[in-house]
Amino acid sequence: MRLVRLIYVSRMTERCDIEAMQQILAVSRLKNKEKDITGILCYDPSYFLQCLEGPRDAVNELYSGILRDPRHENVVLLEYCEPGERQFPEWSMAFLSTADMNPGMLKKYAGVEKFDPYELGSKDACNFLVHITEQARDYLR
Ligand code: FAD
Repeated sequence: MRLVRLIYVSRMTERCDIEAMQQILAVSRLKNKEKDITGILCYDPSYFLQCLEGPRDAVNELYSGILRDPRHENVVLLEYCEPGERQFPEWSMAFLSTADMNPGMLKKYAGVEKFDPYELGSKDACNFLVHITEQARDYLR
């Protein structure tokens, strides 16, 4: 099996409210488990930052569906690689809001003004997600 990791950032559309997010999460956890996909979905009131890890065909197929999902737009691929191992093996889809994060953490990855996930390079995007997962391990949803 070829293991791949894919990270993208996107902007929520007005079709994405709390209820829609809960639905996305519930569907993701169910379907990802079936497809051996793991990862994390980080959000704030305006964007999503998601990492998907798993078999190449399954991740590619899911991503092409995610690209067409009208609940978000401006999807930008930040990383696509074949890592030696998974960074998020424990979660079919961990779910974390920037509101739950330590502001110092966001500052570390922020540019001059404020944290903007569209400005992250591939290495920083992955490091950021690993970092916040470690920090939030106790209350990660
Ligand atoms: P269907 O439900 O038949 O979907 C058909 C089409 O309708 C798809 O294009 C779908 O995107 C769209 N759609 C489905 N429900 C709604 C709705 N309530 N409102 C508007 N459009 C809708 N799915 C996963 O399985 N795993 C993930 O990790 C995952 N992460 C996501 C992250 C984000 C930021 C978003 C926005 C969506 C994510 N999804 C994820 C959902 C994914 O886009 C699909 O909706 C889901 O996988 C079901 O797709 P389907 O084609 O099997 O089913």
